[in-house]
Amino acid sequence: MTASQKRNLVTGGAGFVGSHLVDRLMEAGEDVICLDNYFTGRKANIARWIGHPTFELVRHDVTEPISLEVDRIWHLACPASPVHYQHNPIKTAKTSFLGTYNMLGLARRVGARLLMASTSEVYGDPEVHPQPESYRGSVNTHGIRACYDEGKRVAETLCFDYQRMHGTEIRIARIFNTYGPRMLADDGRVVSNFIVQALRGEPLTLYGEGSQTRSFCFVDDLVEGLIRLMNGEHSGPINIGNPGEFTIRQLAELVRERIDPSLDFTLLPLPQDDPLQRQPVITLAQQELGWEPTIPLRAGLERTIADFRCRLAA
Ligand code: NAD
Ligand code: UDP
Repeated sequence: MTASQKRNLVTGGAGFVGSHLVDRLMEAGEDVICLDNYFTGRKANIARWIGHPTFELVRHDVTEPISLEVDRIWHLACPASPVHYQHNPIKTAKTSFLGTYNMLGLARRVGARLLMASTSEVYGDPEVHPQPESYRGSVNTHGIRACYDEGKRVAETLCFDYQRMHGTEIRIARIFNTYGPRMLADDGRVVSNFIVQALRGEPLTLYGEGSQTRSFCFVDDLVEGLIRLMNGEHSGPINIGNPGEFTIRQLAELVRERIDPSLDFTLLPLPQDDPLQRQPVITLAQQELGWEPTIPLRAGLERTIADFRCRLAA
């Protein structure tokens, strides 16, 4: 390892976003420890690096402390899909709080910089649209999404208290809905659900009327934003997302049109506390990181559909 080479710890590195980040760091010739408990991650996502001299894989649960010598901690470990984070909500809250607490303790001990993957969910079901970082959010503390939303909110709080009390270097990314290759087929999130349903010739499941909105960011754009945030001077929180806003019905129509225009939609009840609208203001990311997304939804969907076609055929 050369003096300029960074030793990176990526928690949740076998997951969807984490594995794309691991690829970028490894391709840049950096040293990477990928840590995961494989709750929603897969070894297959990082299999190409196993055996590489600058890559290590650690099976570990972030709710337990760990000692490692690293310079940078990319703290992504946490299930992100509502289906998975609601599976064991107490564990999700523990992962957010204890996991972030343990990683901040490690960062403090070894003098590492820590980037925490926060979320647009800190804005809850927003009364302000689109959402700037200054908006403080509207989260139901006792609803079925609270384990994740409040978990991420207190994780942000912990990061800032470590910065104030101990001078720990922190970076907070508020990530908006991200999609792309390697999402799990049974992930439960809307992009993967629609693509998998369409490829199997099944009706697409619209929750509610499909009039709620989301803004979808392709994973390569997100990873570029995370890298710029980690390397930059701004602690955040900074929104990282694509401001292109679509209704869920529009997304369903786009997927159906690309795979099989004859498919039906099935209307199912809207889950409790499902945010009705979501769109990031990215002025801060543009100004502080010189970052904005470059991959429009149609192009990103093509790449995601191609990946699912291969995996479902295998
Ligand atoms: P993912 O579920 O694919 O990845 C999460 C990874 O963390 C998985 O590999 C999982 O096995 C691992 N993990 C979960 N609990 C763990 C624990 N206790 N100990 C160790 N590992 C654990 O989700 P993702 O989409 O890749 O999300 C990555 C991060 O980004 C998460 O923190 C998520 O909250 C955040 N985020 C993602 C999105 C998005 O749209 N993808 C949006 C907002 C925030
Ligand atoms: N959704 C849907 N059909 C599905 C899965 C999700 O209509 O099969 C809706 C869901 O109700 C929400 C939106 O799509 O309004 C995004 O859901 P996802 O779980 O991907 O992410 P989040 O709600 O966390 O933004």
